[in-house]
Amino acid sequence: MSTIYNFNAGPAALPKEVLQKAQREMVEYGNTGMSVMELSHRSNAYEDIHNQAISRLKSIANVNQDYHVLFMQGGASLQFTSVAQNFLKGQSNYILTGGWSEKAAAEAQKIGNVVIGASSKENQYRSIPLSDTLLYDSNDSYMHVTSNNTLYGTQWQSFPDASIPLVCDMSSDILSRSIDMNQFDLVYAGAQKNLGPAGVTAIFVKDSFLKQANKNIPTMLSYQTYADSNSLYNTPPVYSIYMLNLVLEWIEERGGIDYIEDQNDQKAKIVYEAIDSSDGFYKGHAQIDARSKMNVTFTLATEALTTTFLKAAADAGFVGLPGHRSVGGCRASIYNSVSLESCEALAKFMNQFKKMV
Ligand SMILES: *Cc1c(COP(=O)(O)O)cnc(C)c1O
Repeated sequence: MSTIYNFNAGPAALPKEVLQKAQREMVEYGNTGMSVMELSHRSNAYEDIHNQAISRLKSIANVNQDYHVLFMQGGASLQFTSVAQNFLKGQSNYILTGGWSEKAAAEAQKIGNVVIGASSKENQYRSIPLSDTLLYDSNDSYMHVTSNNTLYGTQWQSFPDASIPLVCDMSSDILSRSIDMNQFDLVYAGAQKNLGPAGVTAIFVKDSFLKQANKNIPTMLSYQTYADSNSLYNTPPVYSIYMLNLVLEWIEERGGIDYIEDQNDQKAKIVYEAIDSSDGFYKGHAQIDARSKMNVTFTLATEALTTTFLKAAADAGFVGLPGHRSVGGCRASIYNSVSLESCEALAKFMNQFKKMV
């Protein structure tokens, strides 16, 4: 196999060990005589996989007993609608920290009133609003935050302590660091960044919050449907859930979230160090106190130089470094499955490129 360093933003790198295990089990899973893709979602063999994935998510995330873990489809983008349909009554509160939170707010606006409690748009989303500056009303149905801002490379370091329910889009940093998941009433995350392949979205919802959900909404958007059926109301994306379970097993085998967090800290340090020690050759987009450990965003002095850098990086086997089409520049996505070695190779390349031009 050719050596490439995968910094894709999503779908993103998966652990090689997981892909190899999936390869071994591809044609015949256990002694079922068939592939996971061919199993009935009502079979015991599949239900075991499904339930393992749910219990691993609960245990790695370390949530209390009163959380439901649900699997839905439609990506994080459908959750923008789902959250609002289930919980928006009167008015909701959105904190804008990037393109994804803008989209979440725009979808909610189609369903009810949205108030923007804070936004860092004026400074090109380089920062995260300070928790004590957030404006909200105690009657707001919930406050929505985006824990990691995939496009701009910022990340909440600690979360608002508001007196209203807290909903979090955690698509790009779920299970990447040890945070108290019990502070959220609902968390959702598309799997394709930190948890597995595309096709499944994981949702954590607190039972007391679920009980407040609107009842008269479309069946497939109602969290209650999934909670009542163990996410087996209709056919789930069985292979995506199988892969997600393998990724969770991989996390557990390595020592759980503490190990992952430690690796992620080291990885981010290596890449940011390459930026910070470059005497301004590379410029980080995010304010230092808001830097994401998942998406490292930076630019070079001119657009032409950025283009030359990206071309040279691609030639050297670095994949996925161009920034999001709405932002430009460079972005290294260093999710859980991206190795320390990939980050070291990138830092080395950045240092060499600087010397070369
Ligand atoms: C990628 C991403 C999304 C969109 O996810 P889809 O699964 O493609 O809908 C939403 N929010 C955040 C924070 C993301 O990083």
